[in-house]
Amino acid sequence: MLTLDTICQAPKALLHDHLDGGLRPATIVDLAREFGYRELPTDDVDALAAHIRRGADRKSLELYLETFQYTVGVMQERDALARVAAECAEDLAADGVAYAEVRFAPELHVERGLTTDEVVGAVAEGFREGERRAAAAGRPIVVRTLITAMRQFARSREIAELAIRWRDQGAVGFDVAGPEAGYRPTRYLEAFDHIRHENFHLTIHAGESFGLPSIWEAIQFCGAERLGHGVRIIDDITVLADGSVSLGRLAAFVRDRRVPLEMCPTSNVHTGAAASIETHPIDLLRRLRFRVTVNTDNRLMSGVTLSSEFAALDAAFGLGLGEMEWLTINALKSAFVPFDERLRLINEVVKPGYAHLRALETHVVPAPA
Ligand SMILES: [Zn+2]
Repeated sequence: MLTLDTICQAPKALLHDHLDGGLRPATIVDLAREFGYRELPTDDVDALAAHIRRGADRKSLELYLETFQYTVGVMQERDALARVAAECAEDLAADGVAYAEVRFAPELHVERGLTTDEVVGAVAEGFREGERRAAAAGRPIVVRTLITAMRQFARSREIAELAIRWRDQGAVGFDVAGPEAGYRPTRYLEAFDHIRHENFHLTIHAGESFGLPSIWEAIQFCGAERLGHGVRIIDDITVLADGSVSLGRLAAFVRDRRVPLEMCPTSNVHTGAAASIETHPIDLLRRLRFRVTVNTDNRLMSGVTLSSEFAALDAAFGLGLGEMEWLTINALKSAFVPFDERLRLINEVVKPGYAHLRALETHVVPAPA
């Protein structure tokens, strides 16, 4: 089994991580004090972290999303957004993440008068600062953003235009998130059309709490290049009594077209999309060689890091370094950053990083005399 230290040292790529789902608990308390946010259930950092984690683990996407009121509540000022973004980049870099696409919904951060452009600007500035600090600490990271529109608000077209405006300043794609039941992807077709007509990139949360129709619409009507979660694709796969596997038309399409699945195992257990890590469809999907990627979703709410997710999968399925490297290269092949940057990360960071760790595994280093 891989040690957490080895997993942490291994270069990793993260495609699905929410900015408002990854705050340091101490930062929430600090920001609430600094900006006069009075709705926190407690000022005690550990008690607050426990409260949020308990709130997330209730087997319902809608209940899971309730816990964001505190993080979003303290992310309403320019300086607060920049600080949260800088710390996000630092925390991911410290966890060995070499490339991350972090997503956030600008329309959630305008309660105190910021415009959505000011929100995106503050976050972009924070990420650049976090990248500088991480490089100075010897853990370089490239952080890009995905601009998310919330399903329950009706601003997706406007948010799509916002994403396009920031495409040369760190934004690499567009996403929709929020409650899935009752908000099928085709409701936002105008926004998706705009993104595609501008030759920009698109991922959609689909197939998390809602099944195959949501995945089908996201890919075949909306033009999603990747699926946020996509875990319900398992409903189109049948394991027969003799152990052989039969793929339905949609599952076959997703595999044949190499549609990346942004899988977030612990988050899926918390929202009830999967019963446990051990029974998570990610195991079958990776063995069938779907384009599987491993992600955190919400590090704070789910109490995870990308390394802890890999450790949980390694404990359950025995990934080893070879499979970890495959999953990481899957993520980089699926990233929205330009092709030359993806190649650089694969050839100059990921491959040498795993080769180095494999050498350490096979060569027993003599203990100092
Ligand atoms: Zn998500």
